[in-house]
Amino acid sequence: MMIRLAILPLLLALNFSMCKRNPTTTTSSEPASSPPAIAGETAGGSPGPGVAGAAPSPKITKTVVDQTAQTIIFCYHRLVDKIRYPGTEITPADFEAQMKQLKDAGITVISMQDLLAWRRGEKNIPPRCAVISFDDGWKSQYEVGWPIMKKFGYPFTMFIYTEGVRGGSLGGGEAITWEQLADMRDNGVDIEAHTATHQDLREGHNIMLAAPGGKRTRTKLTGPAYEQWVRNEVVGSKELLEQRLGIKVNCFAVPFGNYNEHVKELARNAGYEAMFTVYGQPITFTSPLDALGRYAIEANKPKVFVDAVKMIGTSTGGASAVAEVGAANLSTQPADGETIRTALPLIKANLSRVGAIEPGSVQMRVSGLGTVPVSYDPKTGTISYQVTQKLRGNSCTVIVSAKSEGKKVEAHWTFGIDAAAAAAPVSAAAKSTPTPKK
Ligand SMILES: [Zn+2]
Repeated sequence: MMIRLAILPLLLALNFSMCKRNPTTTTSSEPASSPPAIAGETAGGSPGPGVAGAAPSPKITKTVVDQTAQTIIFCYHRLVDKIRYPGTEITPADFEAQMKQLKDAGITVISMQDLLAWRRGEKNIPPRCAVISFDDGWKSQYEVGWPIMKKFGYPFTMFIYTEGVRGGSLGGGEAITWEQLADMRDNGVDIEAHTATHQDLREGHNIMLAAPGGKRTRTKLTGPAYEQWVRNEVVGSKELLEQRLGIKVNCFAVPFGNYNEHVKELARNAGYEAMFTVYGQPITFTSPLDALGRYAIEANKPKVFVDAVKMIGTSTGGASAVAEVGAANLSTQPADGETIRTALPLIKANLSRVGAIEPGSVQMRVSGLGTVPVSYDPKTGTISYQVTQKLRGNSCTVIVSAKSEGKKVEAHWTFGIDAAAAAAPVSAAAKSTPTPKK
């Protein structure tokens, strides 16, 4: 049920963000996938067009979020007046100028948690947004970056690698302290995970191990030794942040963007909802939550910022925009993601949550069939179509569109077809779907 936005970043500049305390290059990670939040009973507090004050019943009103919204996520490192490492530093003046440019461009800076709530269908966000994150945990982020963010009233996220905090095996004099992090937490700053030691998380890659005495050895870990190590990086760092700060951590920035399926699975199982890389691109309603790209902004590549803003600068907000509605809001049948056992389903959806529908405007398209003669009952808001010609293939996508208050709304969803069951003698399939009479 996803919308494909036409904005494909043609050239995804590979932004290698260097992480500071490590001499190596760092790219960031990607977010873990979050459970497809059932856009559910939001009722309270969301600014979305959802019906307010819905009764607490099975017919709870959901927020209908604008699925055409887009967000660019920025990742910054140190803020210093004299740039010595242009790959990870930016001057406070340049940083502040960029924050202002966002405002001037009409881009709303939202919190990471609002972005995720939007993805869960719980909260609406403006059409064009940005999320600001600071990586690694530098003192200058606390002392210089935070005051600038306060000036603009912008929320932001800190991605911390725990051994890099002051006092940790990698935390030097420029590192942020736990006290500073607690201060940020107390003032609403979002603090999230960026591993324990900021290294390549894939098995068999070169890593540095720091012995308790401080001695460091370069090595490659495999098998159980690797598993234990990577678990501490992905899961242990999350638990440490949660315990030291008394917070919930649900985002994971992958150092250097170096991860794989195994790492993703570990992160997912640990409860991360989103994983982040440094391959910047506009985040849409369908961007995979285990690979959300961030734009790493570096002093020597000012164009990255400019290009990122351009990416969403002109693409949405026009009168022709189509508001995408989550299929979950429409009580579709078959449901999004469901696998059915017949090639002749009855397809239904309830548009009553969308708002006032112009009856003549309702359309249904079915993959493999095209536009079908759908029936619409204005009283119940139900649209339905009994498929009469066997659907082919293992899946079927339905697109429903209608006009509501002058605006075009659309919902897409996809269900699977169990080919074996569907091909079986009619009796098996006929339960839910009568065979069409020829
Ligand atoms: Zn980093």
